[in-house]
Amino acid sequence: NHENELNTKRDDELGDLARSIQLLSDNLERLKKDRNEFLSSISHDLKTPLTYLKGYADIAKRPNLTNEQRNEYLAIIKEEAENVVALINDLFELAKMDENQFTIHRRSVMLNDFLEKISQKFQPAFNEANIILQIKCAANIRVSIDAERFRQVISNLLDNALKYSPANTTVTVEVNQNKNGTTITVSDEGEGISEKDLPNIWDRLYRVEKSRSRSTGGSGLGLAIVKKIIEGHGGEISVRSKVNVGTTFTIHLKDGGAN
Ligand code: ADP
Repeated sequence: NHENELNTKRDDELGDLARSIQLLSDNLERLKKDRNEFLSSISHDLKTPLTYLKGYADIAKRPNLTNEQRNEYLAIIKEEAENVVALINDLFELAKMDENQFTIHRRSVMLNDFLEKISQKFQPAFNEANIILQIKCAANIRVSIDAERFRQVISNLLDNALKYSPANTTVTVEVNQNKNGTTITVSDEGEGISEKDLPNIWDRLYRVEKSRSRSTGGSGLGLAIVKKIIEGHGGEISVRSKVNVGTTFTIHLKDGGAN
């Protein structure tokens, strides 16, 4: 009887072990697949602008071009090269974050000054696109954040809002703080994101419509980086969106400002 009991116990344990191994193997398989997809996506993203670069360099060499034409091609070459550099920088950034080699250096930041500074930088681009940028933040709101990283977060969200909004719309950054924490929303009245695409936008290199977004110069890494930074702060970020109505990103920080 005792032996039977031991046998059953051993069988249970073996069963558990087998299930664990299966789970591990499934996970490894998935990781391998993710990595392969990631690598082929990156290769494509690097190859496309480099192919353009080569093509435009060949054209720019033609002897019969006017100076104006040549300058135009050189400007395109510069822009494409900048896109490649931006993609590589983002990749490095994410790799560092994956290795947890990034630390959050918190300091107390006055949010309205901080946001005003960022909005000044964006103002010319918004003016050019004929989109209004408004900041709604009370004067005395403080949070303890890594200012450099946080600037990256807000810049990425504003970049996207600008890229995916038509003229004559408004982009709003709004801050609310209470004892439970601080909420920052970035909302636009742009093209929105479909329900099908919404859960995937945080993935690396995910773009809703590849060809279209590539021409807007996005790397598809922006939101993956944004999410990592917010989570590094112990916060959360979520998104709500409706096609042709607009998109709102909501950041929640536990920091209620009582520091
Ligand atoms: P990208 O560099 O391509 O903009 P992101 O990671 O920043 O990459 O965003 C991923 C995708 O999510 C974008 O390609 C775009 O399709 C969608 N997206 C992000 N922000 C917005 C927005 N404000 N409005 C509409 N679509 C958006």
